[in-house]
Amino acid sequence: AFDVLVIGGGPAGAAAAVYAARKGIRTGVAAERFGGQVNDTLAIENYISVLETDGPKFAAALEAHTRAYDVDIMNLQRAEKLIPAAQPGGLVEVQLANGGSLKAKTVILSTGARWRNVNVPGEAEYKNKGVAYCPHCDGPLFKGKRVAVIGGGNSGIEAAIDLAGLVAHVTVVEFAEQLKADAVLVKKLHSLPNVTVHTNAQTTEITGANGKVNGLRYKDRVTGVEQHIELEGVFVQIGLVPNTEWLKGTVELSKFGEIIVDAKGQTNLPGVFAAGDCTTVPYKQIVIAAGAGATAALSAFDHLIRN
Ligand code: FAD
Repeated sequence: AFDVLVIGGGPAGAAAAVYAARKGIRTGVAAERFGGQVNDTLAIENYISVLETDGPKFAAALEAHTRAYDVDIMNLQRAEKLIPAAQPGGLVEVQLANGGSLKAKTVILSTGARWRNVNVPGEAEYKNKGVAYCPHCDGPLFKGKRVAVIGGGNSGIEAAIDLAGLVAHVTVVEFAEQLKADAVLVKKLHSLPNVTVHTNAQTTEITGANGKVNGLRYKDRVTGVEQHIELEGVFVQIGLVPNTEWLKGTVELSKFGEIIVDAKGQTNLPGVFAAGDCTTVPYKQIVIAAGAGATAALSAFDHLIRN
């Protein structure tokens, strides 16, 4: 059995594995895709001390750092079920999609999250070529340009307010009749001079030319008329979904499906910790996920020496 078994190989999982392995304890990582969301990222300019890198390079560095230690890396392995320890101090079991099963004294869940897609023509084609999901990450790339934000919930309106300070103009496109964000955010949004809001607007296409976004097409759901807006960027803000479906019924989750953790990364199950985008941690960022992974590993080590 492992002392520490990490599920997920993104920034949180890699940091957890490095911290655990440095304690000289038996450490394993099972990940569906080592590197995680970072693999899909173009430029990374906010990982402190690294002025600029790109996603694939960062993912390779995560793996190299983890491989520098005695860590059993099981890549391309999807966890399907977690079985809590039968008695205090017992082993936690994780069952894999390939039929295998892993046992460990402590488990760190770091399965991350995924941005919900709008699934319209152009979205996949222009991903990272004008289509973006993270305003904290990619906002500065659109300085002085025109962008749209799809989604009028809290994350969409926060993104629109944030972007309005950076870009030339922001158009908010919301499917429903009204913006769903908190009233205080909506009020702030309406006070900004360079924002236009379209409600009852169904995005039908993200258009582009020469490999770059050049506009967004939406249908006015009241009149049925199609409109085309010229712009350079589209931020899709219709939800971040934690990869925790497989934990439903075993680990305590928030109403958004995030694993509920305390400041030490402890879940409701003894010996089971969690870190990164799959948890209730505020703000989903690489530096935050990596820090949370370190916290969870140190907490797991603390748990081991006490049990
Ligand atoms: P993830 O990176 O999501 O990793 C999750 C890991 O778990 C993966 O290895 C995955 O394969 C694995 N996994 C999932 N389910 C299972 C399962 N059932 N069994 C086994 N393994 C599983 N943040 C920044 O700080 N700066 C940026 O510039 C930036 N740009 C971004 C650009 C894009 C396009 C995206 C999508 C995100 C960006 N982010 C950025 C956010 C950042 O990537 C995440 O906050 C960070 O990757 C979270 O790390 P994590 O380890 O918690 O999860």
